[in-house]
Amino acid sequence: METDTIAAIATPLGEGGIAVIRVSGPEAIPIADQIYKGKTSLADVPTHTVHYGYIVHPDTGERIDEVLVTVMRAPRTFTREDVVEISCHGGMVPVHAVLEALLSAGARLAEPGEFTKRAFLNGRIDLSQAEAVIDLIRAKTDRAAKVALKQHEGRLSRLIRQLRNEIVETLAHLAVNVDYPEYDAEEMTSRFLRERCQQIEKEIDRLLSTARQGKIYREGIATVIVGRPNVGKSSLMNALTQENKAIVTEIPGTTRDVIEEYVNVRGIPLRLLDTAGIRETEDIVERIGVERTHKALEQADLVLLVLNYAEPLHEEDRKLISILKQYTAIVIVNKIDLPGQLNLEEVRSLVGDTPLITTSLKQEKGIEELEEAIASLFLLGKVETAEGTYVSNARHIHLLKKAKQNVRDCIDGIDAGVPLDMVEIDLKNAWQNLGEIIGEAVAEDLIDQIFSQFCLGK
Ligand code: GDP
Ligand code: ZN
Repeated sequence: METDTIAAIATPLGEGGIAVIRVSGPEAIPIADQIYKGKTSLADVPTHTVHYGYIVHPDTGERIDEVLVTVMRAPRTFTREDVVEISCHGGMVPVHAVLEALLSAGARLAEPGEFTKRAFLNGRIDLSQAEAVIDLIRAKTDRAAKVALKQHEGRLSRLIRQLRNEIVETLAHLAVNVDYPEYDAEEMTSRFLRERCQQIEKEIDRLLSTARQGKIYREGIATVIVGRPNVGKSSLMNALTQENKAIVTEIPGTTRDVIEEYVNVRGIPLRLLDTAGIRETEDIVERIGVERTHKALEQADLVLLVLNYAEPLHEEDRKLISILKQYTAIVIVNKIDLPGQLNLEEVRSLVGDTPLITTSLKQEKGIEELEEAIASLFLLGKVETAEGTYVSNARHIHLLKKAKQNVRDCIDGIDAGVPLDMVEIDLKNAWQNLGEIIGEAVAEDLIDQIFSQFCLGK
């Protein structure tokens, strides 16, 4: 395979203190050497060493910036190719000048994700690790970054490999017995196969059970606030965002331009959705009816229902409470600073197991308790796995589900008395689907699609 030498800015653009430009490929060192002036030529320096000097323009010889240059020879590099990293002063002008100098000296501007793609194609990392790099770039909270990091370290890959090994061993065992189908052997083999399939299914289930948690850390807990007009929904939104410094992101191109606010509640990212339109109309039940309220809530990981302590329970409150049972929810009885009209005991019995918090948003009371309740709903006793491995990528989840179905089909086949050499095919499919997670047996176009999601320079 013929490869050229690529270059790109590896650090975020802007006014940072230092920027790094990365060059990778067979000509990385000679190309960098053409524009570098220091004590020694880069061709002569030992690998993995750092050198002080200047970058000059290859045509004019004009000095561009004072730099530190790191030379790393293959194969102990990120891409497993020769890599040169040039650290120059941050800021758009010097960074672009150095990059342009490299391009004039013969490097090609890297496509988004191309460094990571090379690392993958050269066997340095597998596909799930490469995707973890994407997640790392996009990680919105520290915790999300940690989940992505663990995947990057190859924990998920290791578990997938183990599973595939188990399947291969099982298939090998089968092959022996399919070739010598004595009566007893057949009976024993199908029992053996069934047990192994159940074991494999269990392990896939365990990985899938981490998926919800993974999604939460990666995308935030999609949170919807509901309640009748004037109960304090906006006040709640404000209380949560003020306390926690909201990050407001506009996401254009979605169904309608939804504005999302991320707030960080004790390390858990809450994504406050305005899709229910509470800011527009203040009353979603009246506006769109109970049925469609349901629809709006379906995309929520967490529903916060606000009730007004200063008014008796309304028919609409009852409807909302009855809908709530199907969701992860918290009931907030607000305005407890006012004389009570609401029968708290009645509300408690109506909401059942759903946590109930009383607040006075006006007096800033009860917000701590609410945050506590949110944290314990999503953290305590939940699926924090021993190894801290979360499946958080939609493609991985999809493939795990397919593999699980394959194993299920295999078990059903055995129970229905389907000949072993036929149920074997299901197990092979499971092996194949698991392999796609780590990039073994993946189609070329899928690889391109995954890597095109990267930012430039990674
Ligand atoms: P929304 O219509 O559900 O969004 O309710 P708002 O947050 O806009 O609040 C409606 C009114 O109730 C505003 O005048 C708030 O100042 C007031 N309010 C909100 N929370 C409290 C509270 O805890 N106690 C009192 N007394 N008033 C509150
Ligand atoms: Zn409001």
